[in-house]
Amino acid sequence: MIECNEIQKYYGDYHALRGIDLVIREGEFFSLLGPSGCGKTTLLRTIAGFEGISSGAVLIDGKHMENVPANSRPTNMVFQSYAIFPHLTVAQNVAFGLRRDPRGKSEKAALVEEALAMVGLRGYGGRAAHALSGGQRQRVALARALILKPKVLLLDEPLSALDRKMREQMQVELIKLQRQVGITFVLVTHDQEEALVMSDRIAVMFDGEIAQLDEPETLYARPKDRRVADFIGVMNFLPAQITREADGIVSVDVPGLGPVELPESQVSRANPDDSGPVLGFRPETMTLLTPGQSSQHARETDVVIDEVVYYGDMTYYDLRLEDTQHTVRISMRNVFGRDVQSVGTKARVAWSPGSLVLFR
Ligand code: ATP
Repeated sequence: MIECNEIQKYYGDYHALRGIDLVIREGEFFSLLGPSGCGKTTLLRTIAGFEGISSGAVLIDGKHMENVPANSRPTNMVFQSYAIFPHLTVAQNVAFGLRRDPRGKSEKAALVEEALAMVGLRGYGGRAAHALSGGQRQRVALARALILKPKVLLLDEPLSALDRKMREQMQVELIKLQRQVGITFVLVTHDQEEALVMSDRIAVMFDGEIAQLDEPETLYARPKDRRVADFIGVMNFLPAQITREADGIVSVDVPGLGPVELPESQVSRANPDDSGPVLGFRPETMTLLTPGQSSQHARETDVVIDEVVYYGDMTYYDLRLEDTQHTVRISMRNVFGRDVQSVGTKARVAWSPGSLVLFR
């Protein structure tokens, strides 16, 4: 549906997009994720046609967009600031999307009703826009964008002005809405959780480049480099020493964990400023064993509990790997209520080499 070929974008001397190659599939919920200033909004605006490119090409639905102005592209954009008119009614705001449409009044009114129903605002047409909540305003903005039946909906941080509860609710509603209308959604967000929850695929951007483009599960479990691993979720890092490399297997020695053998598929790039290779793993991939409990995991390691942080559904444990000064954080789901082990006690964790990533 969208193809970006070798896109370069300069603002004066500033190189904002550095060779973006990207294919977004029809009907996909796609996210551009990255820290502030990485160029994700610039990329979205070049797709929308609000921003020209220095070189490269954007194709939408197979057509070159070089000389196609924003209002002639099969895209529509929803902005972070809802940009709805407070002095108009909800229906007038939504109908604004149809201002250049030649259809008659009653036909337009039916389309407005249909769009409002789509975003869960059936019957709200007569209300004053200024009297709506933040979440409702965002829905009005969505209805206004959808009424034009674009092939692609571009969303620039559409939920960032909402409080946490509302944001989580709207995330789920947006996913449902996207499935229902079946059009391609491209979301810009700096919120990794939001991207993981909503997207079919995510492009993680740093410094005007795509660092990794994958499905959420792959990004989380197999980050291609340490920047991606640091940006998405929590990851523990331990210094590692490479002892052998042969036949696609890297053998490492990790203080506290011992020797581990990893296939190339579990090897990623370290940061340039890392002092050596590091081994990474997510908090939930280690299990704290209760005394006498055995596990199905391949390996077990002795630890001392340094800190216990109770979160209701989860408990986080900071553990010191025995005979080292290294601490790691693991998370355990509290299945039978509060069942935490106490600070200062010795314990064992179980883990599998399959959930480790070596950054070198
Ligand atoms: P944020 O989440 O903060 O909006 P972003 O990843 O969306 O960040 P962009 O808005 O795409 O980042 O900006 C990328 C870089 O290009 C930034 O360093 C920004 O200062 C710069 N930039 C953006 N627009 C312009 C402009 N019109 N003129 C000059 N520089 C710009």
